[in-house]
Amino acid sequence: MEDCIFCKIIKKEIPSNIVYESNDIIAFRDVNPVAPVHILVVPKKHINSLNELLPEDEQLIGRIYTVINTLVKEEEIDKTGFRVVVNCGEDGGQEVKHLHFHILGGKKLGTKIS
Ligand code: AMP
Ligand code: ZN
Repeated sequence: MEDCIFCKIIKKEIPSNIVYESNDIIAFRDVNPVAPVHILVVPKKHINSLNELLPEDEQLIGRIYTVINTLVKEEEIDKTGFRVVVNCGEDGGQEVKHLHFHILGGKKLGTKIS
């Protein structure tokens, strides 16, 4: 989608620190990390948010969690623990309107849910 920053990252039109890439998923380091490990796992297909998820996306979302499982081991935060966050919509604080999964770890994280 035009004017979507994550679609531009996927098309390599803007640089990012990519840590994983397959035909349908990309993962890169957050440009403004809030934890020592802060990775965004993103479907290459433009999906605005969880609100727009379709039944046909079910396997894609499953694969995203498999990628998360791999990345937390690579980043060595699987044993110490981590958090996966998906923000949705205004109240959820979603800034980038392209579905993405935050992996946060490498320190004791703060408030669980606010
Ligand atoms: P959210 O608030 O859930 O929409 O999160 C969007 C995230 O994308 C924020 O944590 C931003 O720091 C991050 N972000 C925005 N632009 C970029 C970029 N060009 N490269 C990497 N991360 C980005
Ligand atoms: Zn997009």
